[in-house]
Amino acid sequence: IEEEGKGGVDRFDSPGKGRGLRVTKRFKVGDLVFVSPAYSYVLSANERGFYCEFCFARKEGLAKCGKCKRAFYCNVGCQKGDWAMHKLECSSMCAYGENWCPSETVRLVARIIAKQKTQKERDPSEKLLQVEELEAHLDKMDNEKHEMNETDIAALHHFYSKHLEFPDHNSLLTIFCQVNCNGFTVEDEELSHLGSAVYPDVALMNHSCCPNVLVTYKGHVAEVRAVQQINPGDEVYTSYIDLLYPTEDRNVRLKDAYYFTCDCKECATKAKDKAKMKLRKLSEPPAPEELRKMFLYGRSIIEDFRRLLTMCELSLDKMGAVFDDANVYMLHMMYQSMGVCLALEDWDGAASYGEKIIKPYSTLYPAYSLNVASICLKLGRLYTALDRPSQGLRLLKKALVILEVTHGKDHNCVTDLKKEIVQLK
Ligand SMILES: [Zn+2]
Ligand SMILES: [Zn+2]
Ligand SMILES: [Zn+2]
Repeated sequence: IEEEGKGGVDRFDSPGKGRGLRVTKRFKVGDLVFVSPAYSYVLSANERGFYCEFCFARKEGLAKCGKCKRAFYCNVGCQKGDWAMHKLECSSMCAYGENWCPSETVRLVARIIAKQKTQKERDPSEKLLQVEELEAHLDKMDNEKHEMNETDIAALHHFYSKHLEFPDHNSLLTIFCQVNCNGFTVEDEELSHLGSAVYPDVALMNHSCCPNVLVTYKGHVAEVRAVQQINPGDEVYTSYIDLLYPTEDRNVRLKDAYYFTCDCKECATKAKDKAKMKLRKLSEPPAPEELRKMFLYGRSIIEDFRRLLTMCELSLDKMGAVFDDANVYMLHMMYQSMGVCLALEDWDGAASYGEKIIKPYSTLYPAYSLNVASICLKLGRLYTALDRPSQGLRLLKKALVILEVTHGKDHNCVTDLKKEIVQLK
């Protein structure tokens, strides 16, 4: 954000909301309000090889880092540009091999710490206003979040100790809380997750359920565009959450993740709630208390699923300190995690668990196993849906070999699978 007025946007104290952004000129629908480079960013491990680690360009034939062979770049320029960040992981990935598994949050925090250090070295007097100004809400954390943060801090020490000087435990906690509250997921136009980043300017915007701007990404640069007309003096509002849910659910989510309740027009009028909570036409409409119970059940079951995934990840981190990925307890947990990812429609997450499971499954189970056939089918179809047809085809063929023995060549599932395979070729 430029100095007051110049860029059309300035910071101000929004009544009851703390800091906020407002416009100093008129913006029409579709106008670019401002652009914000990432303070720090990281490409998702699942997207390696598809995007340049440095500029997030998507292209074929990227060149890989000769040392770790796990980071990919457009050219030498991008590789050089990325080295200050990639060096935090390059040798560590070589040393840990398959067992290198810090979460994306941990990877981003490592980059933030490295960036803060180079900033301090360049100019010790410079206030690191950018990241230090972000809200942390340390005091409002519950036990579950505490445990998550402690696990992340342990992983940070475990995988990054060689190249980072760590600040004290409390400062680390603050950074993790800041990233949890102010981190952004970089998404493409299909809303596929490409990576994570911190944009201090974008984080200044307050939330509304009827936002007047949207954030999109060009590479890893965030672009903020008007989706309603914004007049001089109006505050700029973005939405922090999925707006599909009814008012009460949205506010539970906002309270849980960002520690506030929304007072926007949509939350006050609840105009769309009736349509969002549409009921089946029954001869006898349900009693209000029955309805209330079902509503709470629906909401909690979605939350339970998210929690379940967090639990899976935590348990894998914990056991992973001692057990190899091919250990049966790890395999079982990863199989469950894959199921949760599928139910949450996190296809990339599901694929990455499936990939870890499939090899040990093939050796640990007997040659003709329904469990192996099932994972080959699941992962094969997932690959097909994710536009990786050759990998999908290979797995579906493997499943076919098993199913022909276990179900007989005439079985519906075998003839159907054969058709599926022919269509893929
Ligand atoms: Zn590049
Ligand atoms: Zn490397
Ligand atoms: Zn609202």
